[in-house]
Amino acid sequence: MFDLQHILRENIKNLVPYSSARDEFKGDASVYLDANENSFGSPLNTNYNRYPDPMQFKVKQRLSEIKGVPPRNIFVGNGSDEAIDILFRAFCRPGLDNVITVPPTYGMYEVSANINDIEVRKVRLTADYQLNIEGIAEAIDDNTKIIFICSPNNPTGNSINRTDIETILANFNGLVVIDEAYINYSRQKTFIQELTEYSNLVVLHTLSKAWGLAGLRLGMAFASEEIIEVFNKVKPPYNVNEASQQLALEALQNIEQINDWIRLTVSEREKLSSDLRNLEIVQKIYPSDANFILVKTFDAKGIYDHLVSKGIIVRDRSKVELCEGSLRITIGTPEENQSLINNLKTFSVQK
Ligand SMILES: *Cc1c(COP(=O)(O)O)cnc(C)c1O
Repeated sequence: MFDLQHILRENIKNLVPYSSARDEFKGDASVYLDANENSFGSPLNTNYNRYPDPMQFKVKQRLSEIKGVPPRNIFVGNGSDEAIDILFRAFCRPGLDNVITVPPTYGMYEVSANINDIEVRKVRLTADYQLNIEGIAEAIDDNTKIIFICSPNNPTGNSINRTDIETILANFNGLVVIDEAYINYSRQKTFIQELTEYSNLVVLHTLSKAWGLAGLRLGMAFASEEIIEVFNKVKPPYNVNEASQQLALEALQNIEQINDWIRLTVSEREKLSSDLRNLEIVQKIYPSDANFILVKTFDAKGIYDHLVSKGIIVRDRSKVELCEGSLRITIGTPEENQSLINNLKTFSVQK
């Protein structure tokens, strides 16, 4: 049985959170002399002289409409990376607890674990990049607090089998974090509608990928109200700045544009895959549910250097376990993808 109080760190359980001026007075007033802001204004002609809404009410309201999840089940942070870091700080005791990752996967879980002095137990994906359920079961002990699953997975691009994730959600007594940064490009359904089913579920989304706002730094965690309350207790009071909140709110009106780009990215992904398949230097194209493709080649380093010399940068993943010989290629515009293919055609493998 999952028990949030049982996995919460003692110091967080007892924590009296910082109470900001905006926490202590929430209503409308005409004169604000409570937060030591500059009352004369800001060099920018907006209300940047004021501290931002600590709870991002408007942004959450809009996200709630889009995602179909009540605002009380939403945490908004300075990128998904903030949500990942808070999970460690709230639930994992440095030097005592451990988490499970399933590499090859997103590197931030391990870096964040290391920063927080938390042991990482790695249970490699199978050869077809799926979960090793038995291996995960064996790695779990009483101090295992979190299992991180990225689906669609970075850098492999595939989705993790839903029934396997459900097995873990139903049987693990700690938190199961499903990082769905690439869910908009996937054929698979999000887990966001399952929050009422699984009290140990945390789903991560971001505005950095399909929403085209990597520069704003806005990530979200969706979880039970109790888990979100923990996030809110631990987060810095003003973790999302006013400019990001305003711009996010504006961007979140443009759903049509985003959906057009998603459709275009998916069709370009299929076209690029088939163009790459015709190249002699390509050994294998892994199926992708994301906005990138993992491509196994006969000479990753050679191709990478060749592309750099042509001004095209891809990600060399050939040193990553289970990704030997592979490059991770983000889907570009049709022109960019064509340029990539043209330049790959001019490369010949030194066999
Ligand atoms: C890109 C990416 C993110 C996004 O992180 P942000 O901090 O929100 O920009 C999260 N998870 C994975 C797996 C990613 O690849």
